[in-house]
Amino acid sequence: MNTTDDLFKNVVSHAKEYGFVFPSSEIYDGLSAVYDYGQLGAELKNNIKTYWWKAMVQLHENIVGIDSAIFMHPKIWKASGHVDGFNDPMIDNKDSKKRYRADQLIEDKIARYEKDGKTQKAQELQKALDAALQEDNLPQLKSIIEEHGIACPISGTRNWTDVRQFNLMFATKMGASAEDADDIYLRPETAQGIFVNFLNVQKSGRMKIPFGIAQIGKAFRNEVIARQFIMRMREFEQMEMQFFVRPGTEMEWFKQWKENRLKWHLAVGSDPIKYRFHDHVKLAHYANAAVDIEYEFPFGFKEVEGIHSRTDFDLKQHQTFSGKKMQFFDPEINQNYIPYVVETSIGLDRMFLTVLCNSFEEQDLSTEDKRDSRSVLHFHPALAPIKAAILPLTKKDGLPEKARTIIRDLKFDFSVQYDEKDSIGKRYRRQDAIGTPICITVDHQTLTDDTVTIRHRDNMEQERIAISTLRNMIEGMVGWKTLLEKL
Ligand code: ATP
Repeated sequence: MNTTDDLFKNVVSHAKEYGFVFPSSEIYDGLSAVYDYGQLGAELKNNIKTYWWKAMVQLHENIVGIDSAIFMHPKIWKASGHVDGFNDPMIDNKDSKKRYRADQLIEDKIARYEKDGKTQKAQELQKALDAALQEDNLPQLKSIIEEHGIACPISGTRNWTDVRQFNLMFATKMGASAEDADDIYLRPETAQGIFVNFLNVQKSGRMKIPFGIAQIGKAFRNEVIARQFIMRMREFEQMEMQFFVRPGTEMEWFKQWKENRLKWHLAVGSDPIKYRFHDHVKLAHYANAAVDIEYEFPFGFKEVEGIHSRTDFDLKQHQTFSGKKMQFFDPEINQNYIPYVVETSIGLDRMFLTVLCNSFEEQDLSTEDKRDSRSVLHFHPALAPIKAAILPLTKKDGLPEKARTIIRDLKFDFSVQYDEKDSIGKRYRRQDAIGTPICITVDHQTLTDDTVTIRHRDNMEQERIAISTLRNMIEGMVGWKTLLEKL
């Protein structure tokens, strides 16, 4: 196993060991591609959501946020194209009985060619893949798999079925009795909840173009194959924003949102070298521009966010299918039109994984005399699940009571944790492993002069400060302003 595989394995096991992410239904052997967030994972996830919401809604006068239902009228998915076109090309290996996405098998082969320095072969294969996808040419996808000798990673054989389309939407029934129950879908994206509320929000909020509607919520996709932990899940969360603009101005806005969103990613302290844009070669039929923001995970560059210029496709479709006019009267040019849309769409779970991978470090702290190491999560302090740990040096002499008074003062504004078990060194290490930016140690001197020791997570340095200055110090480190003012 190479070191990047090791690194990812360690991130996954660290996430489980410290209560960030658990496999769903684990005592029943789990449910494929479904995960639960534990006590610290839920905090981290909430912090990422808050960061996004504040950056999109609070900082923009012309963006508002909504929370639409997961169940929607079934016609919506006909109008959006999901009933007829939300498919992945799948192929089965007859020996292992394993199912794969045909395009991903080919992409893996391209990655292998690149790794082996066969750049020209990789480029040719990419071209062939793009062409087959563009034409929805399923037999051609199979020919490519055969021509390049792609084998099943499990059985090692090339005994493949034909390539077939597989719709990714989960269907269920709504209604009291089976006879009159209607087929209904779990939404595969949150965006349609925004489009169908376009008129409601525009009118009730007296919004003028350009304006945006943002939403955070669950989405469901019956992914053909689930891989790489919370990277590709069947139940996941999206943070999407639809920006409605005057037709003809969409490319300018597309450019602006592309830059704006990359800034948002980098502000949390990620290494810029780990980010790149990937322009879509194959544009969806309704899009006139599309780009992915990719992050370099231990298993390679992968999409975390998509920015799409969707033209007036969605609103036009809903106008046709619902019979309601989806227009805006623009007083500046004295015209009615269906607005164009630039959307930013990020997977919350993929962002969570980005933050986790980017923050995780196993540090060797060995000296000549002693072997030592620590696991540390270098979260941006504003995202850290616990902002400060309050640690009495010993369990006696009134130190726990003093520590509790500090907690009582801080807990209304910050999530803090009390810990008195084990040596102080061990307690520091436990907090490092969950990414707590500072530890506040209460010792005997505290009882006489109301000062405490602050121990910093990243450089492990210590300083003595007055209890009365704690609140301002923590606010200066973890407050949302520290992140938002970089945008
Ligand atoms: P992919 O090509 O990886 O399947 P996509 O292009 O279908 O993704 P979009 O429909 O553009 O993804 O969705 C927007 C965002 O939602 C993606 O950038 C990703 O972060 C997230 N996302 C999509 N599918 C999943 C999934 N199955 N699990 C977790 N996050 C997902």
